[in-house]
Amino acid sequence: MSNLIKGHTGDWEVVIGLEVHAQVISNAKLFSGAATDFGAEPNTQVSTVDAAFPGMLPVLNRFCVEQAVKTGLGLDAQINLQSVFDRKNYFYPDLPAGYQISQFSRPIVGKGKLVLDMPDGTVREIGITRLHLEQDAGKSLHDQHPTKTYVDLNRAGVALMEIVSEPDLRSAEEAGAYLRKLRAILRYLGTCDANMEEGNLRCDCNVSVRKPGGALGTRCEIKNVNSIRFVMQAIEYEAQRQIEVIEEGGAVVQETRLFDSGKGVTRSMRSKEESHDYRYFPDPDLLPVTLDPAWLAKLRADLPELPDVKKARFMRDYGLSGDQAATLVAEKETADAFEELQGKVSKRVSISASATANTVINIVSFIAGERGVSPAQFISTNDVPGVLILQQKNVISGRMLKEVLEGIADSKQSAEVFVAEKGLTQVTDTSAIETAIDAVLVKEPDKVADYRAGKEKLLAYFVGQVMRATQGKANPALVNELLKKKLAG
Ligand code: ADP
Ligand code: MG
Repeated sequence: MSNLIKGHTGDWEVVIGLEVHAQVISNAKLFSGAATDFGAEPNTQVSTVDAAFPGMLPVLNRFCVEQAVKTGLGLDAQINLQSVFDRKNYFYPDLPAGYQISQFSRPIVGKGKLVLDMPDGTVREIGITRLHLEQDAGKSLHDQHPTKTYVDLNRAGVALMEIVSEPDLRSAEEAGAYLRKLRAILRYLGTCDANMEEGNLRCDCNVSVRKPGGALGTRCEIKNVNSIRFVMQAIEYEAQRQIEVIEEGGAVVQETRLFDSGKGVTRSMRSKEESHDYRYFPDPDLLPVTLDPAWLAKLRADLPELPDVKKARFMRDYGLSGDQAATLVAEKETADAFEELQGKVSKRVSISASATANTVINIVSFIAGERGVSPAQFISTNDVPGVLILQQKNVISGRMLKEVLEGIADSKQSAEVFVAEKGLTQVTDTSAIETAIDAVLVKEPDKVADYRAGKEKLLAYFVGQVMRATQGKANPALVNELLKKKLAG
C-alpha cells in the first residue's frame, strides 16, 4: 500500500509522531489523596496540595507509579529503575503552583514499541520514545458568568502518562491504527479508560512532509485532538496544507496549531515553545524514584495477556485467520466473550471456532451495534450458545441465525423455546422439500428448459426460489442436492 501523496512537483511522504496524554486509572491523584471521580461538582476533589497552598508537600502515589510501569511493560519498553520529577514552569490560571510536576530528562519509561496490523496485511513497528508521569492542570470555565472566568481544580493533580511516539507513522490510517492499538493495550492493562470523548485520552499530532527518502521536514504540532476520526482528518488536512505551502515556494513554520472539527481545518495558535522556555529543574520537594528490581520482576510476571499475544494464540489454538483474530482481540471483552461462547457450544456439539468467530464478528456485532450494546454484553445476556447449538444440530439453517438472534433478544426466550414457538425449525424432510421444488419448477418451464440446455448458472436462481417458498426454513444443502437431481431427470 502506498502512502504517498501526489503534488504537482511529485510525490510527498507524510511523517507523524504522536504525543498521547493518558489519564491513569487511580482513585487518588499523583501527589495527593484527593479523589479523581469523573463529573463531580467543581472544586469538591481538591486538596491543599492540588490548590498549591504555601508549604504543602507532594507525596508520590505508589499506585500511579505501578500503573505507569505496567504500561511501560505493555509497550515492551525499557523501565528506568531511577527517574526524576521536574518542575515545568509556566503561568496559567488553572495551574495554581505556577509549575506542573512532570518528568523531563529522566522519565520512568524509555524506549519501547507498538506493532500495527494494517488492513492490507502489512505489519508496522512504531517506536515509542518514552513514557513519563505528570500532573494534569485544572480547568478554566468561561461559560458560567458573563464577565468572569471560574476555575475548577478537580482535575488539577490527576496523574497522566505522556506517551510519546517516534516520528515513525506515515499516514492518517497508521495514526488511527496506532491510537486504536494503544487504546486496546491500555484497556487490557487496566491503566487508562482510554475514552477520547471523556478526555481521559488526549492526542497531540506532530506532522511534517518530505520528499520520499529525504531529510525530515519542519513539523507543526496540532494540540489536543479529541477523537480518532478527528486525528485522521487533522493529519490529512495538515499534510495537504504543508505540501501546498512548499510547492508555492514558501516554507513551513514550526508552530502549534488547533484543529477546527466543524470546518475540518487546522489553524495557527501560537509559535512553538522550546523546552528551555519552561526552565525545567528537578523538584526539590520530591526524591528521585527508585524501583525495586524484584517488584518490577513481579509486575512483569503478572502482566495480563495483551492483544498481540492473544491474537497469536487465537490463530494457533483456534485456527482463526489473522483478520478474524485481530477483529476479536481489538476489545478484550469481545475476545473473552468469544472464548466463553466457543467453550460452551463445543461442549455440546462439534463446531469450528471459525464458524463461531464469524457469527460473533458478522452477525452478533451488527445486531449488538443496532441495539447500542457491546457484542460481549449481547452474548452474556442472551442465549447465543443455544442458537449456535441449534444451528449445528441442523434444527435451524445458517440463514435463520440473524432472525433467531434478534428474536431471542426481543423475547428474552431461550433459543429452543423461541424456535419452537415461532415454528422456525429447519425443514430437513426430503418429501416436503421435493414438494416445494416441484411447485417452483412447474411455474418456470422456460428456465427449466434453459438450464437443461446448459445454462447451469440458473441453479442458484432455483435454490433462491425454493428457499423463498419455504420462508428460508429448508436445509440449503438438501435443496441443492434435490434440485440438481430433479433438473437432471
Ligand atoms: P516537543 O516535546 O517539543 O513537542 P519532542 O522532540 O518531544 O518535542 O517531539 C514531540 C513529537 O514530535 C514526537 O512524537 C516526535 O516523534 C515528533 N516529531 C519530531 N520530529 C518530527 C517531524 N519532523 N515530523 C513529524 N513529527 C516529528
Ligand atoms: Mg510536544
